[in-house]
Amino acid sequence: MSEKIISKDKIKEWIDVLMQSHTVVAPIERKDAPAEFREIKPGDEPIIDGSKSMMPPKDWLLPRYETLFKVSKGAEGAQVEPAVPECKPTVMLGMWLPDAAAIRVLDRVFLDDKFKDPYYAARRENTVLVAVMPAEKRWSWFCNSVDDVETWKDSVDVLMYDLGDKFYVEGISAKGEEIIAGAYFTESNEADTIARNQVWDLFAKCDKLPFAGKALYDNLAWEDPIWAEISQKCLACGMCSYMCPSCSCFDIQDETNGLCTERYRCRDTCQFEDFTLMGAGHNPRNNQLPRSRQRLLHKFKYQHEQFGVVGCTGCGRCVELCPVNVDIRDVLTRTCSKERAEEPVKAD
Ligand code: SF4
Ligand code: SF4
Repeated sequence: MSEKIISKDKIKEWIDVLMQSHTVVAPIERKDAPAEFREIKPGDEPIIDGSKSMMPPKDWLLPRYETLFKVSKGAEGAQVEPAVPECKPTVMLGMWLPDAAAIRVLDRVFLDDKFKDPYYAARRENTVLVAVMPAEKRWSWFCNSVDDVETWKDSVDVLMYDLGDKFYVEGISAKGEEIIAGAYFTESNEADTIARNQVWDLFAKCDKLPFAGKALYDNLAWEDPIWAEISQKCLACGMCSYMCPSCSCFDIQDETNGLCTERYRCRDTCQFEDFTLMGAGHNPRNNQLPRSRQRLLHKFKYQHEQFGVVGCTGCGRCVELCPVNVDIRDVLTRTCSKERAEEPVKAD
């Protein structure tokens, strides 16, 4: 693993060189809207200091709306036009390390050996991930309470640390080493390494919450009074899962326009009333209680059973965005606390 320095005033030149061979994607601010991961075009001002983009990087790898195929009817019968994207090699810059760890969760879902998703795979397998550790702490983080964050470094190809007027840069994979081989990168010295360690410790050694290190998958119970309590507050707006960097649910719809039908998928969430509505009208999660329960059980119990890891990286987006202050940290703390009420509620 190489360890280098790049001055912030050289970043634009580095990106310009990368753009000759890659699509380069980074958080870019939009008028009156939060920054969003999209392809850098000439004149754009990408944000690559690792200050978390509220729109998650999955927006690029798993777009909110995507055509799967089109069927058109003509004189020669039905013609099927597949829409698997042809992707140029891509560099994604400026994501925060927990969001890269969330991409690892998406990889487990979409790059499974048995059910590989060709749309996701076309983008992901061509993408080099460059994460940045920001110089300032964010109040909603609880990453080191859900996992051993040291292991997350393997989620990325390059890891950069914001040292003020420069970045400390670690090449993690061979693909990562290739893109930091240019003349813009110089050798690091001992003072840089000390500064790098301080940025890392700000993230990795912040105070742990009471549930850290506990078997969350064993503590979240189906018949727990907390689901009724959450569901009474919840507005079912879906923000907590729609914006979550590791949530992966989508819906598939057909839209017909004259002689052409488009099949597309669009992001969906378990917090929406019609998410489990079946064609015949039955809805197994027909009120908010089972929907509130599903979000937590899926992340901390079912994904752990399926993949051996939890589906939350503690990024804090759902904590910041919930309009009624449903705080996942509080839910996990209480479900792991021995003092809490044990009175079960009737589910459904
Ligand atoms: S903190 Fe919330 S938004 Fe972030 S990964 Fe966990 S569940 Fe998703
Ligand atoms: S963000 Fe809050 S109100 Fe909205 S669905 Fe999630 S828990 Fe409910």
